[in-house]
Amino acid sequence: MRLLSIAALAVLAIAPPAGAAVNVMTTTEDLADLTRQVGGDRVKVESIARGYQDPHFVEAKPSFILKLAKADLLVVVGRELEIGWLPPLIQQSRNAKVQVGAEGYLDASLTARILEIPTGQITRAMGDVHPQGNPHYHLDPGNGRRIAKAIADKLSQMAPADAATFASRYAEFDKRLAEAEKRWDAAMAPYKGLKVVTYHRSWANFVDRFGLDVIGYVEPRPGIPPSPGHTIDLIGEMKRQNVKILMVEPYFDLKTPQSIGRETGAKVVVMPPSVGGEKEITDYISLFDYDLNLLVAAIKETGAK
Ligand SMILES: [Zn+2]
Repeated sequence: MRLLSIAALAVLAIAPPAGAAVNVMTTTEDLADLTRQVGGDRVKVESIARGYQDPHFVEAKPSFILKLAKADLLVVVGRELEIGWLPPLIQQSRNAKVQVGAEGYLDASLTARILEIPTGQITRAMGDVHPQGNPHYHLDPGNGRRIAKAIADKLSQMAPADAATFASRYAEFDKRLAEAEKRWDAAMAPYKGLKVVTYHRSWANFVDRFGLDVIGYVEPRPGIPPSPGHTIDLIGEMKRQNVKILMVEPYFDLKTPQSIGRETGAKVVVMPPSVGGEKEITDYISLFDYDLNLLVAAIKETGAK
C-alpha cells in the first residue's frame, strides 16, 4: 500500500498542478528566452548559466540544486556542452522529473541541425570540448525556430490545457523571426564569402547561415588555450588570405587576439554568442541584431571584402 502510494505520487508529480505555470530551468539564457517566447506567462523560467559566461565552464553553485529540485522541466543544449558541470546538479537535485531521459528533460539538440559532427574515433585526451558536434547551434535562426518548436511541443505535453497558447505563441515567434531574418540576410548579403577568424568554434552555425568563411581559430582545438606556435601559423595564414575580422567571445582573454590584430591589421570584434551577453541583448532576436550590427560596422571600418 505504501509503495503503491509512492508510485502514484511519482506519476502525479510529472505534471504540474492544473492552472499553475510550468516551472522550467534551462542551462543557457538562449534556451530560457526561447522558452519564454513560447511559454509566456504559462511558464516560470530561469537559466543556470549567464549569457556572459563560457557555457562550457559554469560554476555548479549549490543554489541551483535547490532550484532544480523544484523544476518540472529542464531544457539543455546537449552535445556534452554541459558535461563539466550539469550532471552533479541533476543528480543532487534528486528530482526524478528532470533526470536524463525522464519526461521533464529536454535535449534541445535532438531536433536541431548540428554541424561538425566528428567522424572516426574521438578521445577526450585530444582536448576537444565538442566531441558530439558543435554545441553552439542556437546561433542559426533556423535552429532557434526548431528549439522553440521542441519546447512548445514539450510544454503542450506537460500542460495540455495550455497547448493552444503554446501553439499560437510559437506561431507568433516564428513570424517575428522570419521578419528579422529578412533584415539580417539583407544586412549580410554584400559580404558573402568574407573570410574571418574566430577565437573558439562558437560560430559554426552562424557563419554557415550568413555566408561567412572561417579560415582559422585562435584556439588550436576547442577548449585548448592559444599556443605560440599555433598563433604564429594563424597570423601567417591571416596575412596570406588578407583576413581583417577576428571574432572573440567576451569571456576570453584579449591578449592573444589583440597581438594577432596588431600583426595582421585585423579588427578584434568582441561578439557575445548568447542572450544576456550584453545588457542590450535581452532576447533571442536582439542577440542577432546586436551581433550583426557589430559585425557589419567592423567590416565597413576595415574595408574587408
Ligand atoms: Zn564550444
